[in-house]
Amino acid sequence: MASDFDKALYLVKERLKQIRKQVPPRRFDKKKPAEVEINKFWYDGKTVDRIMLVLRSTGCSHYKNKEGCSMCGHYDGTTETPVTSAEYIAQWKSVVNGKSLNLNKTERFDINNFPVLCLYNLGSFLNPEEVPRDAARKMFESIAKFEGIKKVIIESRAEYVTKENLENIRLVNNGNIEVGMGLESINYEIRELCHHKNLPDLNIFSNAIDLIHQYDFRALAYVNQKPPFLTESEAINDAIATAVFAYRAGVDAVSIEPTSLQAHSLTDHLHQMGQYQVPWLWSVIKAIKGINEKINQNGSLDLRIGGYFNEEILSGSQGVASGTERNELFPHTTSGNCNHCTDRVIEAIKESNRTYNLNVLFNEKDCDYCTPIWKEALKVKDSRSIPRRIIEILGGK
Ligand code: SF4
Ligand SMILES: [Zn+2]
Repeated sequence: MASDFDKALYLVKERLKQIRKQVPPRRFDKKKPAEVEINKFWYDGKTVDRIMLVLRSTGCSHYKNKEGCSMCGHYDGTTETPVTSAEYIAQWKSVVNGKSLNLNKTERFDINNFPVLCLYNLGSFLNPEEVPRDAARKMFESIAKFEGIKKVIIESRAEYVTKENLENIRLVNNGNIEVGMGLESINYEIRELCHHKNLPDLNIFSNAIDLIHQYDFRALAYVNQKPPFLTESEAINDAIATAVFAYRAGVDAVSIEPTSLQAHSLTDHLHQMGQYQVPWLWSVIKAIKGINEKINQNGSLDLRIGGYFNEEILSGSQGVASGTERNELFPHTTSGNCNHCTDRVIEAIKESNRTYNLNVLFNEKDCDYCTPIWKEALKVKDSRSIPRRIIEILGGK
């Protein structure tokens, strides 16, 4: 007889399959990036301009194999047929020469003005099935020629962090390169059922950190705060435990990613069913506080909060998949408190991201309107096991 864990895993995967089937046809120009934006970021002791280039891409193999993670809606922005090396290179060039950017006629674009470059592909940059090796190599060879670019951030699932894939980049670029990997949770049930991460063995993650350092890259862990099926308190504790594990396993940085709602994700679907709420911003601050207390790095902790930057969009909103003008990658709902304090707390989070001064978060004053409600939310308990919660919510039993 199937265990509750197996039943729950099956239900999550089947529901994800149904949700992904609702994505409209994805017809994108493969020579244009999905998104280019500029925001402020902390680098080398100061606030600098960061450029974030999201390549229009083939997309994450986890989607193809197992329907992807529960909180992720990147699928909507990916292509129906693979993006070729030549198309990736064309996208990169169109950014460097400014042709794919919305600039006014007098504005001159120079990528050297951006010390930090995020080169994202809505999946794993190090997976050759998503970004062919020669395309990855050529882009990094080109990046090495721009002296103004001091640091590059890419993303990859841990299993694609291999000698071959790292060497492919190192051969042409010996700069500061950071690899962000989704860890999400160190709790097996939470990671495999709630996040649907398909990272059954944490050693894959730990080994990836070692390899990253062997090739002199930096390791960044993404920790999603509040996947579905958890209470507010469980989600805070899980984010703290996971980030602490990541630092102790050797990562150089952690980014806490409070769940936001993207179309065609399981989290969004459950939200519509009345079974999911994004985390409170107070909870995000509480998690950051908990991590900071446990990992003391004499004030030099590289701890970020994903999704909170003042961005200027230079290119994006092809909007084809959603059938609207809205960029198909943007979440429609992010973490929040109440109308009285959400804006100021978000400002504080943005400031902490651009200054790495966590005290701006810890100094945030309680809100007379919503702090008491949040404190009540923290008291909510669920005595059911995680698989039982899933079976009841998705299986109707
Ligand atoms: S979160 Fe990352 S690993 Fe998961 S489906 Fe999305 S792109 Fe793939
Ligand atoms: Zn409030």
